[in-house]
Amino acid sequence: MSKKLLSIVVPVYNEQEVINETFKRLSGVFKNYFMGVEYIFINDGSKDNTYFKLKEIANANTCVRVINFARNFGHQIAITAGMDYAQGDAVVIIDADLQDPPEVILQMVEQWNQGYEVVYGKRLQREGETFFKKLTAKMFYRFLDSMTDVKLPVDVGDFRLIDRKVCDAMKCLPERSRYVRGLVSWVGFKQTSVEYRREKRFAGETKYPLKKMLKLAGDGIFSFSYKPLKLATFAGMLVSVISFIYLIVVLVQKLVKNNVASGWASSMAVSLLFNGVMLIVIGIMGEYVGRIYEEVKARPLYVVGELMGFEDETERKND
Ligand code: UDP
Ligand code: MG
Repeated sequence: MSKKLLSIVVPVYNEQEVINETFKRLSGVFKNYFMGVEYIFINDGSKDNTYFKLKEIANANTCVRVINFARNFGHQIAITAGMDYAQGDAVVIIDADLQDPPEVILQMVEQWNQGYEVVYGKRLQREGETFFKKLTAKMFYRFLDSMTDVKLPVDVGDFRLIDRKVCDAMKCLPERSRYVRGLVSWVGFKQTSVEYRREKRFAGETKYPLKKMLKLAGDGIFSFSYKPLKLATFAGMLVSVISFIYLIVVLVQKLVKNNVASGWASSMAVSLLFNGVMLIVIGIMGEYVGRIYEEVKARPLYVVGELMGFEDETERKND
């Protein structure tokens, strides 16, 4: 029987200060390991020296593969590409910045050996992140959970191990607005978690500015639920009922007392409120229409500029 293979998928964007250390820590964990290991680094259009550093690593180690994107496609797409190219019996997704300690992977593999098909890392504590980031992350996970019909575990990032079966199932989901951790929950399978402390970034800065965080949040919400549309309907109904009651009040005032309200302010307020509600509803619909448009175009998820280290089958043949 051939040795089992573990694929470690690492999305990388402008991580020149970190990447050598990341590979060192990862390979340290798997030195003298009983499984074969392949490392897949996805260079997501980095503008610094990440490409050359990855090239060096790939040239020096046969178990390293690099997918070089033609431009920056984003973290979630990078993970997807890694999963597409992974050959392993299990795939581990881990950030390049060492916030997720590589040592935890061993605990994940243990759970996998016990028959779990998805083992996700649950963040007990997050260190070295701003109060704003922690607060927004906490709020987001809970808000998302209340918005979606799929059960999404809270305080869980993309750091996880998935079985080959899960990986193959996910390849059948061709959607463009990808919220990978949501898709993993959607496909199901036997899932469990291991808890860990999220460390400080080893070096460099976060590659998730507010804009990217909002996009991820939008993908999470709008790709997993049409509850916002239901909320829009509900808001519309509520406003209609209130206006109807107000209409009756005005009519009664006119008929009974014959003193019609003279207020300019009240009519302005009503009109502004209505316009506001309407614009929000149109915006919500726009989010869905935009996503439908993206899907209909059916463009590929990513464009690969160059592949490195994919020729040989290495570790798997070692047995
Ligand atoms: N990343 C990426 N493409 C991007 C942004 C980020 O591949 O457009 C990678 C990044 O290199 C890191 C991971 O995604 O390995 C998570 O990013 P980061 O650590 O900056 O996010 P944070 O931990 O601050 O949420
Ligand atoms: Mg990070």
